[in-house]
Amino acid sequence: MNPSPPALESGDQGLAAGVLAGERRSLAKGITLVESSRREHQLRAQRLLEAILPHTGHSLRLGVSGAPGVGKSTFVEALGLCLAGQGHRLAVLAVDPSSAVTGGSILGDKTRMERLSQHPNAFIRPSPSGGTLGGVAEKTREAMLLCEAAGYGLIIVETVGVGQSEVAVAGMVDMFMLLQLPNAGDELQALKKGIIELADMVVINKADLDAGSAELARAQVQNVLTLLAPASPHWTPPVLAVSALTGAGVPELWSEVGRFRTALAASGEFQAKRRRQAVDWMWSLLDSGLRSRFRHHPAVRERLDQLTAAVSHGAMTPSAAARMLLALAQEKD
Ligand code: GDP
Repeated sequence: MNPSPPALESGDQGLAAGVLAGERRSLAKGITLVESSRREHQLRAQRLLEAILPHTGHSLRLGVSGAPGVGKSTFVEALGLCLAGQGHRLAVLAVDPSSAVTGGSILGDKTRMERLSQHPNAFIRPSPSGGTLGGVAEKTREAMLLCEAAGYGLIIVETVGVGQSEVAVAGMVDMFMLLQLPNAGDELQALKKGIIELADMVVINKADLDAGSAELARAQVQNVLTLLAPASPHWTPPVLAVSALTGAGVPELWSEVGRFRTALAASGEFQAKRRRQAVDWMWSLLDSGLRSRFRHHPAVRERLDQLTAAVSHGAMTPSAAARMLLALAQEKD
């Protein structure tokens, strides 16, 4: 069996060439294709991704997360403007599973990153409305590959929705940054949710409001981090105080990002993490594909409601129902 998809249609060859030439319009069109849930679009998107894949993987993937209001978009804009001004090209993508419910997007509900979005070196894309978090995350991953192929050296993936999106984003980036407010107790919140363990760097934002409490919070979070088992023997997550509003501390933060990249690349961990993420991604696609195939299997569809009701009424054990459904799914459709 030949695992490669058929060649690109002629129109899509132009699209792939446009993406590789760094044309914004082609990139935006490519991402729209990837985000489409129409079957024919999905097939074209897969071919497009195959075509550009050899040109991906050279960018730094940075995740930015934190509670709503902590200043994520202000921070991304400050960092983005600083880097774009130095000639770096960067793309900003968002993961927001709630946009699927409300139909909103990061650009729709409020004017976000207005100055950065007008900069010729920046490309900003709101979150796709992909339904489940898994769907949104998958599309964001693919959009990230397109941005890389278009020559954006830095890809920032920002979490907009709350909840599990942090874990999804941490699983698709090289470096995961967690933003916190300089409030006592805030660090404990993140610790409780287990998010701080994912962080390669913690950023105390809004340090301009009260430098003293920002420094206190910085020291407290640094303490909390020393209690956790380090995720990497080659990197101790630093805690930095910045002001996204004034830009104070942002250049220093960027040099820490560089230090992270160098330390992990030197130890081989950078590539190892990407390889792990690629395999995890394959498994999550397998999981969702198998689940969807299972639900669409005619024999399963015929009995699923009835067996679900039997389990919920206690007339059948969950394991007996699961065994029966799995056996039905093996029947030829
Ligand atoms: P997000 O929901 O995490 O994306 O937060 P926003 O970037 O929208 O910021 C929420 C509010 O905090 C806005 O009113 C910002 O102007 C403000 N803000 C963000 N960063 C700073 C900062 O460093 N200092 C101060 N004083 N305000 C900030």
